[in-house]
Amino acid sequence: MEAGAVTFPPDVDVVVVGAGFGGLAMLYRLRQAGFSMQGVEAGESVGGTWFWNRYPGARVDIQSVEYSLSISKEVQDEWTWSELMAPQEELERYINFVADRLDLRRHIRFDTKVTAMTWAEASATWLVETDRGDRWRARFVVTAMGCLSAPLEPAIDGLGSFAGASLYTNRFPKEGYDFTGKRVAIIGTGSSGVQATPEVARQAEHLYVFQRSAAYTMPAGNRPWGPGEFEALRRDYDAIRAVQFASPLGAARFGAVAIGDFRTPPPKILETPVEERLARLDREGWLAATPFAWADVAADIEANRAAQELYAEMIRREVKDPQTAAALVPHYPMGCKRPIIDIGYFETFNRDNVTLVDLRKGAIRRITPKGIDTEQGFFALDVIVYATGFDAMTGALNRTDIRGRGGQLMREAWLAEGPRTYLGLMVAGFPNLFTVTGPGSPSVLTNMVSSIEQHSQWIVECLEHLRRRGLATIEATPEAQHDWVAHVAALAEGGVRVHESCTSWYLGANVPGKVRVYMPYTGGLNVYRDRCDEIASGGYAGFALA
Ligand code: NAP
Repeated sequence: MEAGAVTFPPDVDVVVVGAGFGGLAMLYRLRQAGFSMQGVEAGESVGGTWFWNRYPGARVDIQSVEYSLSISKEVQDEWTWSELMAPQEELERYINFVADRLDLRRHIRFDTKVTAMTWAEASATWLVETDRGDRWRARFVVTAMGCLSAPLEPAIDGLGSFAGASLYTNRFPKEGYDFTGKRVAIIGTGSSGVQATPEVARQAEHLYVFQRSAAYTMPAGNRPWGPGEFEALRRDYDAIRAVQFASPLGAARFGAVAIGDFRTPPPKILETPVEERLARLDREGWLAATPFAWADVAADIEANRAAQELYAEMIRREVKDPQTAAALVPHYPMGCKRPIIDIGYFETFNRDNVTLVDLRKGAIRRITPKGIDTEQGFFALDVIVYATGFDAMTGALNRTDIRGRGGQLMREAWLAEGPRTYLGLMVAGFPNLFTVTGPGSPSVLTNMVSSIEQHSQWIVECLEHLRRRGLATIEATPEAQHDWVAHVAALAEGGVRVHESCTSWYLGANVPGKVRVYMPYTGGLNVYRDRCDEIASGGYAGFALA
C-alpha cells in the first residue's frame, strides 16, 4: 500500500517497539500520561537483553539496587534483590514482575517483529508493519530496541557445517544446555565469553577458549547480601537514587568499585615510580591496574601502556602457566573497549580441562562438521558457543525498514557518515520517531536503566507538551543534528577510546564495513540530562514543532 495514502485517524497515539526495560518504562509512563499505545516485542515475553542473553554466567555489571526501575514506588518497595549484582535468571524474574505488577503485558504483542515503519506525510502518522501482518497507524513511534540486540554471526567459513551443537550466547536456549562430558569451544572473549568461561569449564569435559583479542577484566566482587543489608539499602532508596542520577555513569558504582572514591584525581602513572606502581598493585590488587586508579591512563597512550604492564603483572600472579598468562595480556589500549567484570575468569585457565587457543598465533581457517580447523591445528568438538557480539547501537534500527520523509531509509541516511541524531533522541527527516538510548546519547557508557528512565521521562513530557499546544509533529532540525553530531565527536576526540589501535564496538569496528564513528555521548549522563532539560524548557530548541 502507498503509505502516503493513509488518511484515516491513527489507531494509537504511540507504538513502542521492544519490551525490555526501555519498552516497559515507556509503556508505563505513556499510560500514566493518558496516551493510547501499542507495544510490540520480538520475544515471547518481556526482558529484552535479559530475555535473550541467558548463557551460563550472565550477570549485570551494575549493582542491582541501581540497575532497577525507580519509576514505580510499588515495584521498588516490593522487589527484593538477593545479591549485589543479579544473575540473568533473577533479572528476568524481576522484569516479569515489573510487567505484571504494573499490568503492562496486556499492551504488548509478543512473538512479533516490526519489519517496517513508514512515515505517511498526508496523515502525519507512522505505519508500523510486523512479520505477523499487523498494520498499525500511530502518531508517534518510540523505538526501545536495545543497543546490544542485533546479534553478529562471525564471518567464518563453514559456519553452518558443524555437526555438533552450535550455540549463541545472545540467543541461548531457554531450557539451558548441559555441557557435561562435552568437548566445547567458546569463540569470543568479550563480556559474554568471559562470563560464560568459568561456568562452562566447570561442566565440560574440555573447554577451548578461542581468543582473538584478550580481555581487560577484573573480579566483580559480587556477593549475596549480609543479614539485613538489602533492607537497610531499600530504606535508604531516596538517597541512593539521588546519588545515582547525579552521577555521570547513572550509578554510584561500576561493579564493586565506588566511582565517587575517584572524584579527587588519582595520581598520574607516568609521574609515579615503577616501585610505587607495583606497591599499589600489592595493596589494591586489580583496581590499581585500571584507568580508575590513574589520572592519565584514559587520556595518554604512553600512560596506558604503563597500566597495561601492571595488568600483565596481575595476570602473571593469577595464571600458573607462563605462556597462557602471556597470551591473556591484551595488545590494545585499556579503556578503549567496555571494561569487563568476571567471577573467576583467570583462575579458570589453571584448570586441567581448559585450554586457551590464542588466535594471534594462528587464525581460524574454517569450521568443519567435526570441529574447528585453525592455522595452529585442528580442534575436535561436540559444541561451539559463539560469544561473538552485536552490531551495536545501530544494528536493531538498521535491520528494520524505517522510512522517513520522502521515503528515505534510516540505514541509508546513516550509511556514509554513521548514525546522525539530535541528542540521540530524534533523527532529522524522521518526524515523531523517538529512539530510546539512541546513538549520540550516553546509553551504553552508563547504567542503561538510568539512561532509559531519563529518555522515557523526556519523551513523555515532550508528547504532553505537543498535546497541550495542539501540535501534531516534532522533528529534529538538520542544523541542530549537525551541531550535536559535531559536539559528540568533539567530546570523544583524543584519548584512548578513539586511538587508531582501538577496535571497539563503540566505534563500530567489530562490524565489517561499518563506518568508524564513536557512537555514544561521552560527556556523562548528568551533563546530558541537564542539556536535554534545558532544551525542553527553552521550547524545544533545535526541533521543528508544527
Ligand atoms: P563483544 O564484546 O563484541 O565480544 C565479542 C568477542 O568475539 C570478541 O572477543 C571478538 O574478538 C570475538 N569475535 C568476534 N568475531 C570473531 C571471529 N570471527 N573469530 C574470533 N573471535 C571473534 O560481545 P559480547 O561479549 O557479547 O559483549 C557485548 C557487550 O554487551 C559488552 O561490551 C557489554 O556492554 C554487554 N554485555 C554486558 C554484560 C554485563 O554487563 N555483565 C555481559 C555481556 C555483555 P575481537 O575483540 O578481536 O573483535
